[in-house]
Amino acid sequence: MASIALKVTNPPSTDGHHQSPPDVKPLFRGNGSTDYVCGNCAAVIAAAMGPTQHVIVDTTICPGCGAENEFPRELRA
Ligand SMILES: [Zn+2]
Repeated sequence: MASIALKVTNPPSTDGHHQSPPDVKPLFRGNGSTDYVCGNCAAVIAAAMGPTQHVIVDTTICPGCGAENEFPRELRA
């Protein structure tokens, strides 16, 4: 499974403590082979996305750390 880190556009306000990737449920789930992970904490935000699958938002707030992540253009609907 490949994993691609998303671009963080707005770091979480509560910065300063480092932690391992939290155990959070992905916001999106596909049936492909690429995981898109938070660029700040590496939590999986969009799991198993296929090459023809898209998300319906441009940016999303990471459920693990609160950072705003931007999806790559090719992943947007
Ligand atoms: Zn995060």
